[in-house]
Amino acid sequence: MSAAATNVAVIGAGISGAVCASLLAARGVAVTLFDSGRGAGGRMAQRREVMDDGTELRFDHGAPYFTVSSDEVARVVSGWEARGLVAEWKAMFACFDREAGKFRDFDKEGTTKKYVGVPGMNSICKSLCLEDGVVARFGVTVGKMDWLQNGSSWSLTSLDGKDLGNFDYVVATDKNVASHKFSGLTGRPPPLDLSVFPNLSTMFQDIPVRPCFALMLAFSEPLAMVPVQGFSFYNSDSLSWAFCDSSKPGRVCLPPNSQSWVLRSTAEYASKVINNMGPRKPSADALAKVAEDLFKEFQATGLNIPQPIFIKAHRWSVF
Ligand SMILES: Cc1cc2nc3c(=O)[nH]c(=O)nc-3n(C[C@H](O)[C@H](O)[C@H](O)COP(=O)(O)OP(=O)(O)OC[C@H]3O[C@@H](n4cnc5c(N)ncnc54)[C@H](O)[C@@H]3O)c2cc1C
Repeated sequence: MSAAATNVAVIGAGISGAVCASLLAARGVAVTLFDSGRGAGGRMAQRREVMDDGTELRFDHGAPYFTVSSDEVARVVSGWEARGLVAEWKAMFACFDREAGKFRDFDKEGTTKKYVGVPGMNSICKSLCLEDGVVARFGVTVGKMDWLQNGSSWSLTSLDGKDLGNFDYVVATDKNVASHKFSGLTGRPPPLDLSVFPNLSTMFQDIPVRPCFALMLAFSEPLAMVPVQGFSFYNSDSLSWAFCDSSKPGRVCLPPNSQSWVLRSTAEYASKVINNMGPRKPSADALAKVAEDLFKEFQATGLNIPQPIFIKAHRWSVF
């Protein structure tokens, strides 16, 4: 792609779209980034919640951390680290055997470096979207993409029918742009008609989709019987992971001495619930029931889990 007079639309301001937009803009390409959400991050998300007494809490309720496995990515991440956008999470992880009621397989810190966004997982995307040459438009769902043969460009239209402009290239970072799931959520056909690109259609189908619920919890005191900052569940039908969010670097813990945790459901549990619920946004009652189920399972570990001062479930459609 030559930079001269190139105009690119990037759909999605998650980590894929934000990195892509920033790399293109650094090479002089004019980039417009669209995201349905209110801000950047996608599944590298941080959520703000307010307790009944007005206390603000924040949870990384999507990806809890990331690791680096190539030199090229390591170079990019060390640049982010130098800018204060990410930090290493020096945490100890283990596995909790639900049947034996014991932790095992302690993974001492340093085995695999774990990185987190600072002060939240979304900080990297937020910062990349502000770079020179990137125009970010949030709260805009791309509803239609038409290839204009005459002008050799793509014309984008929003879900509510607004013209979003013409672009030489489009980078779509979410398979929703061509998936029937888009129709389930919006009642409209997906933006991109993949019948024109059968090979691409097969590739899209092969991208796995695993549903999951996240459970956000805050406790007035640290969980005394949990010796690690993150653990996977072995032999649990409904829980797969738990992470102590407040132990990450750069997090402000409110109220003092409190601890926040994010638990992740198994895909099997989420599929069962979602099959009953359907593809649309779950009701508050349905989410409250999920929160109750998952918290019961957490308490059943025998780890002396007290009543939380905050509890809420969030549904992730894909993973
Ligand atoms: C609970 C949870 C735990 C996870 N744990 C891990 C982990 O431990 N390790 C790991 O490597 N990964 C993990 N992941 C996966 C990781 O978060 C994702 O792979 C990664 O964040 C995906 O980034 P992305 O930019 O490709 O997509 P996304 O972050 O999904 O971004 C896509 C963006 O596109 C936007 N969008 C879609 N369609 C449109 C449209 N038509 N118009 C406008 N905007 C649109 C969406 O709003 C979204 O913001 C986890 C994910 C979740 C949810």
